[in-house]
Amino acid sequence: MRLLKEADVAGKIVIVRVDFNVPLKDGKITDDKRIRAVLPTIEYLRKKKARIVLISHLGRPDGKVADDLRLAPVADRLSKLLKYPVHYEPDCIGSDVEFAVRGLHESDVLLLENLRFYPEEEADDAGFAQKLAVLAEVYVNDAFAVSHRAHASVHAIAKFLPSYAGFLLEKEVKMLSSLLKSPKHPFIAIMGGAKVSDKIGVIESLLKKVDAVLIGGAMMFTFYKALNYEVGKSKFEADKIALAKSLLKNSNKKIVLPTDVVLSDKRVVPADKMPKNSAGFDIGPETRAIYAEMIKEAKTVFWNGPMGLFEQKPFDRGTLAVAKAMSECRGVTVVGGGDSVSAIEKANLEKKFSHVSTGGGASLEFLEGKKLPGIDVLEH
Ligand code: ADP
Ligand code: MG
Repeated sequence: MRLLKEADVAGKIVIVRVDFNVPLKDGKITDDKRIRAVLPTIEYLRKKKARIVLISHLGRPDGKVADDLRLAPVADRLSKLLKYPVHYEPDCIGSDVEFAVRGLHESDVLLLENLRFYPEEEADDAGFAQKLAVLAEVYVNDAFAVSHRAHASVHAIAKFLPSYAGFLLEKEVKMLSSLLKSPKHPFIAIMGGAKVSDKIGVIESLLKKVDAVLIGGAMMFTFYKALNYEVGKSKFEADKIALAKSLLKNSNKKIVLPTDVVLSDKRVVPADKMPKNSAGFDIGPETRAIYAEMIKEAKTVFWNGPMGLFEQKPFDRGTLAVAKAMSECRGVTVVGGGDSVSAIEKANLEKKFSHVSTGGGASLEFLEGKKLPGIDVLEH
């Protein structure tokens, strides 16, 4: 992968794809970690006296202008973080934008409008990508979280400009590659969340690398169904039971299922004794202890997906137990996935992890061994 630090950017116009898809409430940014994550790249380019043009999406405007999804509040916040004025242009292509770019001085920063106001962005349209590319001399991708998408600003644009990976993208790829290439053992993966179908690919490919996959979240009930256990009213995927069965059969006993379950009425029951009229909302205390022990002893741990309905107390205890055990583990600890990351942030543990990925879907596809379109184009 071509890296920003190898690029000749001094004094040049550099267009940088970032992920400024921040949560907004009443027009205010409630969490700016995605903005802070790309500051090293922006500050490096400013030191090199580049003229910086930032492009991003925000939310799902579906190819139409949506006033509540404009990037103006992000320009303000970025300006405060950089302690330097950030120009903002309410469009991302066209003559006004070209004029604004020509007006940039060395080390200036310009943020363009939400790319997804144009349907061409998500369609990976070459014409649209070219309109972005003509603005600049060099392209940098620092948006790992969208690099699994073949979108114009991530994929098609690289055909038109010398293209490089920014520092955030570089760090993500380095950390996630280290899990695949030379992980220290024991290597444990913890998979939770809502659906097996989202995670099946990564479970299959991780089974070849890890010593154990600890299962939690609603997906555990699909596995219980595969064992003919009663799951009552718990969430499960009927069309994935056969798949769960074959995974269990071919996993060489690496798949570890919870031994007890917390029901919606907070009762704890053994996994194979769930009542018909109740739903499972979390892994039980015995499972928490078993998982925590395994995690603390591991040399490499990857986690994706909460262990239970963590948004609702007390069903956050399984998720918190995993987060805490990982924070106490002395090995390499990596977490990916929007909900898992928000759980560790709520518990204030993010600093104790080796790496907290900024990409949920992207990190899973990467670990599955898939080629990510946005990374692939930086290699060829
Ligand atoms: P991530 O964003 O970390 O990849 P997912 O989006 O796959 O995770 O799954 C998170 C969701 O799964 C959460 O909203 C959580 O409440 C839900 N969930 C986890 N366990 C259960 C359960 N036992 N029953 C219902 N929902 C669950
Ligand atoms: Mg999620």
